[in-house]
Amino acid sequence: MLVVMQSVATQDQIDQVVKRIQELGLTAHEMPGATRTAVGMTGNIEAIDPRSFEALGGVRELVRVTKPFKLASREMHADDTVVETDTTSLGPSTFTIVAGPCSVESESMAFEVAEHLLAKGVKMFRGGVFKPRTSPYSFQGMEDDGLKILGKLREALGIGVVTEVMEKEQVSRVEPVADVLQVGTRNMQNFPLLKQMGKAQRPVLLKRGMSATLEEWLMAAEYVLAGGNGNVVLCERGIRTFADHTRNTLDLSVIPPAKQLSHLPVIVDPSHGTGKRAYVKAMALAGLAAGADGMIVEIHPNPDRAVSDGAQSLNFAQFDDLLESVHALAGVLNRKVN
Ligand code: PEP
Ligand code: MN
Repeated sequence: MLVVMQSVATQDQIDQVVKRIQELGLTAHEMPGATRTAVGMTGNIEAIDPRSFEALGGVRELVRVTKPFKLASREMHADDTVVETDTTSLGPSTFTIVAGPCSVESESMAFEVAEHLLAKGVKMFRGGVFKPRTSPYSFQGMEDDGLKILGKLREALGIGVVTEVMEKEQVSRVEPVADVLQVGTRNMQNFPLLKQMGKAQRPVLLKRGMSATLEEWLMAAEYVLAGGNGNVVLCERGIRTFADHTRNTLDLSVIPPAKQLSHLPVIVDPSHGTGKRAYVKAMALAGLAAGADGMIVEIHPNPDRAVSDGAQSLNFAQFDDLLESVHALAGVLNRKVN
């Protein structure tokens, strides 16, 4: 349920509504808007009599939120959310580039990539140090040594960092060196992790589970929002289908409904979405055209020697070529490249 306040409502009247919600044992979510404030409520709202709110001063109307993902829904939050980080932002009218290696492999390699990105105007570096690998015999990531490298990178170059967190105990270790915490596809329904992310101070990049419906994905986002962290970015990274010409099927058709149903930014990952570098450019541009608010792309100084996901990683020249096309298409679509 959403209590929409009159545009002239005073803070005192808003506080009264919040108080009434809390008295009913529910959680109140104040949502200031451009013209008026609304107060959302979550919890068991089944038994609530709307009239008990309608009588309060400054209340304009009560709106029932029909979707199970309350805080993630546009019903409760009509305006697009803009997720701000120290170096950039993700949201409407822009297209934000995040790029870097699948895994951080060494300090020199991480710096080489980050310096290239900064030279090209890209302000967000991606690089995994805790890696969810299908095989226990594959490289598992540099773990805490990798975190130190990410910290140095941020400190020395001032570039933003996105990195994956695999379990809830890692959140407090990763937060000091990351601008955005990534939840991988395999962890989209790791509920203890999502709850911990709700308490985190950093924005969360929530990848879609490889077999998750849109509703399940938005319910996963709801866990983070309900925990108190309002900064969630959704990332479509490809789903499992019968197709075997690509590693996953990048479901671009989820972008318009995701943006219609939710106010959260949505970005695409054409690297995991295709698994093959030859298709990354086409799908990245298609993602921009489909309305994505940004992309996360894997690049590597020497993809053939990458310890993970080399087949889908672009080399610097291929990335520069993609960037040039992104700028050209973004110009046509009136989108600013971040
Ligand atoms: C990654 O970003 O390297 C990764 C493991 O992503 P996903 O969770 O989408 O497979
Ligand atoms: Mn990867």
